Amino acid sequence: MKFSTLFVLLMLSAMALRGQSDEPAGALTIYTRFAHPPSPLSIGYMKTELDAIMLPFNLRFDWRALEAASGSEAVAEIVVVSFKGACQADTLIRWEPSAHMLGSTHIADGQILPFADVDCDRIRELMASSLAPASPSERERLLGHAMARVLAHELYHFLAHTTKHASTGIAKASYTGNELAAGVLRFDEVQLRSVRAALPTGAGF
Ligand SMILES: [Zn+2]
Repeated sequence: MKFSTLFVLLMLSAMALRGQSDEPAGALTIYTRFAHPPSPLSIGYMKTELDAIMLPFNLRFDWRALEAASGSEAVAEIVVVSFKGACQADTLIRWEPSAHMLGSTHIADGQILPFADVDCDRIRELMASSLAPASPSERERLLGHAMARVLAHELYHFLAHTTKHASTGIAKASYTGNELAAGVLRFDEVQLRSVRAALPTGAGF
């Protein structure tokens, strides 16, 4: 390979890398509403874990409290997330077999709407056996990561404009308590591609 060709290739790969890492493909403003005051520690862990899960999409998240919204903010793309139950792990909930959902995305006339629910009580219930033996700070970390996984699942429906599920990864139709609490849970390659394909290119959405 001639030097000049190599140089051009290096330049191109540097540009591609910069496009992937430095400049977000778009910004998503997440308006949050909590049924009960959440644990700041859990919320911090949730935001960090959501950033890690959504990293392949190169999106920038702008978190805002819905009650502080004036309606006059200039935002590109929004999603409103309602957190039900208590998003703090200092009290434990006993596990009960339950058909209630951990999260949901609103749909009207077949369209995915930018409104999602995350149910912290159901998450804590499902993770009861993982939370019970953990230290107080570890409980907040486990809860925060689980909240991020459920929220990432709902954002997947919204961003990919799909109600479909995957057999593994974040886009699974349901999780076990262990999947919510343990290890690393990320999107599979097929779902990564479907979200990327649905995201408009260029600045903003
Ligand atoms: Zn789903």
